[in-house]
Amino acid sequence: MILLGPPGAGKGTQARLLVDKLQLMQLSTGDMLRDAVAAGTETGLKAKELIDRGDLVPDDIVVGIVSDRLDDPDAQDGIIFDGFPRTLGQADAFEAMLSEKGIRLDAVVEMRCDNDQLIERITGRYTCGNCGEGYHSSYKKPKVENVCDVCGRSEMRQREDDTVEAFRARLLNYYKDTAPLIGYYHAKNALRIVDGMAAIEDVTKQIDAVITA
Ligand code: AMP
Repeated sequence: MILLGPPGAGKGTQARLLVDKLQLMQLSTGDMLRDAVAAGTETGLKAKELIDRGDLVPDDIVVGIVSDRLDDPDAQDGIIFDGFPRTLGQADAFEAMLSEKGIRLDAVVEMRCDNDQLIERITGRYTCGNCGEGYHSSYKKPKVENVCDVCGRSEMRQREDDTVEAFRARLLNYYKDTAPLIGYYHAKNALRIVDGMAAIEDVTKQIDAVITA
């Protein structure tokens, strides 16, 4: 399944909830690229500046890391793609990859959003650096300030590209490069639409309903 939506739509949040609910694996190209940056790999070095600016990483790099990841033993049961594909080129390469590896795409869920509210979502969000649980300074605070509800550690982090400037670039890139995928998957009869501005648990319910319908 693919989750499609602008930055701040809540793709990562929903992917994490669906992983628990449906026993799937989350595959976030953003997380994979950030891991590569942190590890200082060749891919990470190429990606860092682009990510910090809010620009897209070239298709061949992203397609390569996804293709490699799909061969791992833990990726054989069911996957939620969060942040991939992000361009028509990636979608075409993804389709070829799926048919080559014998994987079926069940659904593409578009999380429809109101742009004006996204900036607040993005600039207020942070995650636990240990377990990855997501929080927000207005909508989802941890029960004890600065302590993760899930793992109990105090390692909250904010993404370096969650600034107003980088967000604007990411939103522009979304409409320029990624939004055409809505038509692409609609034409393939794979697109399902949910309200990305609803409360977190309602969005999960909507996604569950559209993928099981
Ligand atoms: P995300 O965590 O999905 O918001 O991604 C963070 C950043 O990683 C993006 O702004 C891009 O710079 C890069 N990135 C993540 N996924 C992709 C992708 N599929 N194609 C190109 N760049 C990507």
